Amino acid sequence: MKIGEIGEFGLLDKLGLYKRQFANGWIGPGDDCAVIPFCNSNLSISTDLLVEDVHFRRSTASALDIGYKALAVNLSDLASMGARPLGFVMGAAFPRDLEVGWVSEMLEGLDQCGEEFGCPLVGGDTSRSDKITLSITVFGESGGKREGWNPVMRSGANPGDVVMLTGFTGESGAGLAALEKGANKSGDSTCATLLLRHLRPTPRIIFGVALAQSELATSMIDLSDGMILDATHIANRSGVGIVLDSERVSLSEALRAGCEGLGLNPLELALTGGEDYELLFTVHPGAVERVIALGERHELRVTAIGEVKNGSEVEVTGAGAKYIKNSKGYDHFKGGG
Ligand SMILES: [Mg+2]
Repeated sequence: MKIGEIGEFGLLDKLGLYKRQFANGWIGPGDDCAVIPFCNSNLSISTDLLVEDVHFRRSTASALDIGYKALAVNLSDLASMGARPLGFVMGAAFPRDLEVGWVSEMLEGLDQCGEEFGCPLVGGDTSRSDKITLSITVFGESGGKREGWNPVMRSGANPGDVVMLTGFTGESGAGLAALEKGANKSGDSTCATLLLRHLRPTPRIIFGVALAQSELATSMIDLSDGMILDATHIANRSGVGIVLDSERVSLSEALRAGCEGLGLNPLELALTGGEDYELLFTVHPGAVERVIALGERHELRVTAIGEVKNGSEVEVTGAGAKYIKNSKGYDHFKGGG
């Protein structure tokens, strides 16, 4: 059996990593971060591997943006469990003929993101490879005995809970489509907004931590694979069904305008486009208003878009129902890239 036949999720399943048992308070593979209880707090750890021509192309993204995004997507995993960033380490492999200037620009992008979110580079290692390969591991801190709250996991959703979402989705997918059609940041303002959302995603650290501290969320995930597919991760880990009401998924002005120019459907992108790095989470119905108010305090739009049911599937109602078949997401081993 070849990896390409079973894909990324099939491989992880086959290896049995999700079934490993850990001591009380530890969180192992299968969530957005690993958690190790440490000194009355929780050390949260997340790692991500970015490979040239699989995750990014030098022809469509600057070294500055590649560096910024490499850290931002890791920070998003911390956000989804309510962890405050502490610092990160990076392993990087480069081709021998790569310009030194490219590497220093990439480092500048990493530093920009690190300064913005309080997460400095504290170590790493380098080697040689045919393609640029960047592996970032971020460390964060979340609750624990000292603060009296726990990291929010994917597995806590209960039937009857309301599904909520930060911000707007689909913009990153539209930005990627625009990039592939040759757009650049000096284009019109709609185009620039969409490109920025794709090239420089904003991890929802401040809201994610505030939400975890409030103890109002029962489960949470950050959106990297597309809303429908990421909702299935919550459904699977929580042992529940999820109904997403596509009529309640807001489409931003930039997404609508951009999709018109690109000949794409904005609702399809909002439901299935990847790399939005918004937070999808579940709350008890009685907490919805408080969570919306919490979002307002952090100048972040938060909307209720569905509910948790008994069952095991993700369902989409309304005009977006037909896009569920497109929601398999990107698989690194099955994809051709
Ligand atoms: Mg994640």
